Amino acid sequence: MNETDIQELRARFRGELITPSDPLYDVARKVYNGMIDRRPALIARCADVADVVAGVSFAREKNLLLAVRGGGHNGPGLGVCDGGLVVDLSRLKGIRIDQKNRTVRVEGGALWGEVDHATHAFGLAVPSGFISTTGVGGLTLGGGIGYLSRAHGLTIDNLLEVDVVLADGRLVTASAEENADLFWALRGGGGNFGVVTSFLFRAHPVGAVYGGPIFWPLDKGAELLRFWRDFIQTAPEDINGWFGFATVPPVPMFPAEHHLKKMCVITWCYTGDPAKAEEVFKPIRQFSPPTMDFCGPIPFPVLQSLFDGLYPAGLQWYWKADFFQELSDKAIDLHMKYAERLPSPHSTMHLYPINGAAQRVGKGETAFSYREARFAEVIVGVDPDPANNPRLMQWARDYWLALHPFSSGGGYVNMMMDEGEDNVKAAYRDNYARLAEVKRKYDPANLFRVNQNVKPA
Ligand SMILES: Cc1cc2nc3c(=O)[nH]c(=O)nc-3n(C[C@H](O)[C@H](O)[C@H](O)COP(=O)(O)OP(=O)(O)OC[C@H]3O[C@@H](n4cnc5c(N)ncnc54)[C@H](O)[C@@H]3O)c2cc1C
Repeated sequence: MNETDIQELRARFRGELITPSDPLYDVARKVYNGMIDRRPALIARCADVADVVAGVSFAREKNLLLAVRGGGHNGPGLGVCDGGLVVDLSRLKGIRIDQKNRTVRVEGGALWGEVDHATHAFGLAVPSGFISTTGVGGLTLGGGIGYLSRAHGLTIDNLLEVDVVLADGRLVTASAEENADLFWALRGGGGNFGVVTSFLFRAHPVGAVYGGPIFWPLDKGAELLRFWRDFIQTAPEDINGWFGFATVPPVPMFPAEHHLKKMCVITWCYTGDPAKAEEVFKPIRQFSPPTMDFCGPIPFPVLQSLFDGLYPAGLQWYWKADFFQELSDKAIDLHMKYAERLPSPHSTMHLYPINGAAQRVGKGETAFSYREARFAEVIVGVDPDPANNPRLMQWARDYWLALHPFSSGGGYVNMMMDEGEDNVKAAYRDNYARLAEVKRKYDPANLFRVNQNVKPA
């Protein structure tokens, strides 16, 4: 890309164009995962939808590799590329609440914490994830698993309409009524089909909830996993609790005697009648006395951001994922084996329950295929020091390989590294062929390929 090309783009662009000589460049090219170190030729930080159209058209006309950046949280760093153009949406953060219809319109570069803040003022929430720093764009387009999944479904199950800039530069709207094939593919198919500049979500009355983490000793892990597996299968849908292994952070909120001890933690979110909360949690607390119990009334945005400080941007992250229909006793024993070998204090394994409302959508209704799965597993090796990467990666791979035979066969696209075509196909199973057809229609030259890529049929 030469200066004349950049001048040409500048003439039709209102936002910032950031080149390698710009003082902002090293900050602008950074993504959340510190393991990713890519150097794009140009970062086009869009000020509006016209800029997105200009950026996409420029990449197509000049035959440039194109990455689209939402919140920049993706594990394999799919919001940035080496040597090409990054269309950066981080300035597109507009959020508009329609109280009467309980809908929320969100621009393509917003973060979930920003949406939670805006909706909470009106006693509403959109189902998203378990942390506030992720981007609305990437999380939504991959599916969206979070605290409200059992009660209200995945994020895509609450998506009503999108505006999308296509590979040919056209801006179209997609919904159940308009461009329905595109709308189907966008709900789980990731960034393969275009740049979403605006999302319209259904919101739900969620204000203060009853939730937070409860810790048990690691040696209770197998028993706790069995209890949780059975409890969450039949629990009312307004209660969610995801299971994790954790190393207690050495910070004052935790008693010093527990610092750096490995433990099991279930982080809860109950959105039902507050008067019944203590009763609902009785069997959980009676199962075995918790070591630490931080569960109680809490505003939803506070619960969503509880782990933000523990996981600041810039750590090294290596991800592995799978879906499971069952959690057998044999699988539980294997989980315990790898929990004892957590390779660093930040490393963890989470099991998210996705039974309930998310299962009431058919597996052909959206591109997200694993609708019969009850649990989404994610194994992450995390540490501040890049020197530990080989150890983190080996642990995560070994752990994943040991559990994979018990899985449904594929993982959640938003929690995978860059693992190749076979794993993308396994993530979409029988929906892959239909995705490839939609891809051929809307992006036949595969302009949008810095993602968990679906090849045009
Ligand atoms: C700490 C942490 C916690 C997480 N927790 C959860 C969780 O609870 N639940 C969950 O479901 N996931 C979770 N994730 C995974 C998360 O969904 C993915 O990392 C997702 O890709 C992040 O989206 P982003 O917009 O921030 O990422 P980016 O890196 O900006 O983008 C990721 C992909 O999406 C595409 N993309 C982003 N925005 C748009 C857009 N507007 N239009 C078109 N394409 C776009 C990009 O091109 C890229 O291919 C978590 C990730 C992290 C790092």
